[in-house]
Amino acid sequence: LINVALYIKLNFILKFSKNMEFKELGKTKEKVAVIGQGTWRMGGGFEKDESRDEDEVKALRRGIELEMTFIDTAEIYGSGHAEEIVGKAIKGLRDKVFIATKVSSEHLRYDDVIKAAEGSLRRLNISTIDLYQIHWPNPRIPIKETMSAMEHLIKKGKIRYVGVSNFSVKEMKEAIEALSVTELVSNQVRYSLLARDIENDILPFCQKERITVIAYSPLAKGAIASSIYFNLLNKLAKKYDKTPAQIALNWLIEKDCVIAIPKASRIEHVEENAKAVGWRMSKEDYNLLSSI
Ligand code: NAP
Repeated sequence: LINVALYIKLNFILKFSKNMEFKELGKTKEKVAVIGQGTWRMGGGFEKDESRDEDEVKALRRGIELEMTFIDTAEIYGSGHAEEIVGKAIKGLRDKVFIATKVSSEHLRYDDVIKAAEGSLRRLNISTIDLYQIHWPNPRIPIKETMSAMEHLIKKGKIRYVGVSNFSVKEMKEAIEALSVTELVSNQVRYSLLARDIENDILPFCQKERITVIAYSPLAKGAIASSIYFNLLNKLAKKYDKTPAQIALNWLIEKDCVIAIPKASRIEHVEENAKAVGWRMSKEDYNLLSSI
């Protein structure tokens, strides 16, 4: 009987124990979870698909329970349906989560930005977007025009912070220049052990300017563990009693100014990702991973 009670207690502790780490978003003083939740392919790809709604809402809610409270979505995901799924998952939990969404690159004209934000707010069923990001740059539309719409949205209380995604250093500099009443807080870019090019310029620039790098596809879309890192990730996983995915995520969030947003529809993946924080590897092991 004592063993059974201990077993139940241990499982209870494991289920509800939290160890999320938080980092400042840009220079805002706002703290965000270093492991967030991505939503690309929730609610469909480019088309709406409602067949897995229930599981996806459950996965996001489990992630929130484990303090992966930074949720990233976009108007384009599932043709808006990913935002609806996020809206369902955060119902009754608005004060616990930080909601980031994105305006598509074809909606960067002033009126289109305002309209797109209204659509996202409606689908998310919230009154303010915490972080509104330009999904991709659009060289045909002046960044000044887009940013003035962003600042209008801030004044109206519809969004809190402005971010960009897939911007080069040059494009970030133009975005910074185009803002007058607020600062650029983040750049969401592909970054993982398998995609390291941002280390040449974007990462050092963001670290210097205190702009948060939101690492997307941090698990290389699930392929990280079977990549060229297979042997090393498994070796380190064994050494630190972690999984290869946790090692790969921890390698990212150990860096100044970097947070990661893995997407997980499976509860076991959500729980695994939440435990990628609260510990560190030795300097030698980070360097070893970085050197490949
Ligand atoms: P990802 O997070 O690197 O990989 C997602 C895939 O990995 C899913 O198939 C997921 O499976 C699997 N997975 C999750 N946790 C795992 C674990 N612990 N072990 C093994 N497999 C695991 O790729 P992503 O979805 O491309 O990127 C993450 C988020 O970044 C997106 O969802 C989106 O929000 C954002 N993003 C932004 C852009 C942009 O242009 N700004 C581009 C791409 C992505 P299950 O779902 O079955 O659990």
